[in-house]
Amino acid sequence: MRFFRVSAADGSLLAQFYIDLYAREGKRGGAWMDDARGRKLLAGGKVQTPVAYLTCNFSAPVGDKPALFTHDEVITLFHEFGHGLHHMLTQVGELGVSGINGVEWDAVELPSQFMENFCWEFEVLSGMTQHVDSGEPLPRALFERMLAAKNFQNGMMTLRQIVFSSFDMHLHTDFDPHGAKSVLDLSREINDRVHVVPQYPLSRWPNTFSHIFAGGYAAGYYCYKWAEVLSADVYAAFEEAAQLSGTVLDSETGARYQREILSVGGSRPAMDSFVAFRGRAPQIDALLRHGGMAA
Ligand SMILES: [Zn+2]
Repeated sequence: MRFFRVSAADGSLLAQFYIDLYAREGKRGGAWMDDARGRKLLAGGKVQTPVAYLTCNFSAPVGDKPALFTHDEVITLFHEFGHGLHHMLTQVGELGVSGINGVEWDAVELPSQFMENFCWEFEVLSGMTQHVDSGEPLPRALFERMLAAKNFQNGMMTLRQIVFSSFDMHLHTDFDPHGAKSVLDLSREINDRVHVVPQYPLSRWPNTFSHIFAGGYAAGYYCYKWAEVLSADVYAAFEEAAQLSGTVLDSETGARYQREILSVGGSRPAMDSFVAFRGRAPQIDALLRHGGMAA
């Protein structure tokens, strides 16, 4: 476990976080970010600064070799750190809406999925990877193959997510459980309208769709795809800035992102924050382009 202090340019304390990277016996599996303490204005003008913790279960260093992370693990770390930044860089003083608190469910994954984009940016990835023995950076050709593998059948996966989301929405809005149409009929109707592959007659996928029946995502499954639309479009602002500044690590855009999205938490509707940052409503273009489905 390590403990970090995050300070502003003038050295004043903004936040602190714990990071517990490695798997060990008895530790709960998975990766997550959570808050130990939220930002809050105290009596007398004092501020309680936020404290986050990031927990991962990566492979620990062995012998005199450094810890070797898979690309998936790096993405996980960036994802959880995105949640962490959302919590730590807040400027809100009301506990209920500071940091990650009170942010709409369909926008809470924006800062985390946003960070994942950097793991698919050659400029960023080549600066933080090297061969463990030779020290050679990640070859461009290998990166291109990783990208191609990520986007393989992305169109099919996207359609599948849209089928799941639409099914969930219709089930919770206009479906009559006592009507002539069964749940399976509904699933087939939506699949055959949306997907390019007809639903197999014996398919019973709603029976195991535990996300919406046991996972608390009822009428909210669309949040996954929607957060991707938002995060891809936010990242596209950095890509646009890079055309002028030469780098996606553009500090001016980063400062605007911090000011309009990260710092405001749940103190205003997430859509207002998005529009304040982007200057317009969300568009799907960037998500399609990142997924290899548009030029
Ligand atoms: Zn997340």
